[in-house]
Amino acid sequence: MQSLTNRSKVVVNKKMSFMEKLYLPEIAKGMMITLKHLFKKKVTIKYPEQKRPVAPVWRGWHVLKRDELGRENCTACGLCAVACPAEAITMTAAERKPGEENLYREEKYAAVYEINMLRCIFCGLCEEACPKEAIFLTDRNVPVDLLRDDFIFGKDKLVEGIEPEKRIDISVRARAHRQIES
Ligand code: SF4
Ligand code: SF4
Repeated sequence: MQSLTNRSKVVVNKKMSFMEKLYLPEIAKGMMITLKHLFKKKVTIKYPEQKRPVAPVWRGWHVLKRDELGRENCTACGLCAVACPAEAITMTAAERKPGEENLYREEKYAAVYEINMLRCIFCGLCEEACPKEAIFLTDRNVPVDLLRDDFIFGKDKLVEGIEPEKRIDISVRARAHRQIES
């Protein structure tokens, strides 16, 4: 029979010797390999306590930004959802009521805004499509979880906090982007 490659091996049904039946030399060989790796530099890291450094333009967990007065920038225009190749974004628009001018910058806002993080491919097209500077990708990792439903991030996980210490800094990524584009 003609062989397609020279990698094939003929299996020999040879009887094991006494030493082979003991397995001790093979166990010792295996332990030597383990010991050798004990003293090598570790390639694994203890995530989430430790995080790998990422590029300044790295794209992670999205943020829905507020303006300087604390109002949500998003006007529920839907352009990010249309641009999303993974169809990960859904939203429900609502009309701003009198007295809510301090909450929403525009007359229309997203009452519901959801991103399915299991569908998202972190391409950044939603950010590019947004005319209101409302959605940005950040350098944060999406936290691990066990249930699929928990990966559907609503406004509670996407909109940044009003207080200055709860704002999400996107300046490093934005600066790196500008440098690449210029
Ligand atoms: S990063 Fe890409 S895939 Fe993820 S929500 Fe935005 S447009 Fe969709
Ligand atoms: S995030 Fe931007 S593009 Fe998406 S609905 Fe809001 S304003 Fe429109």
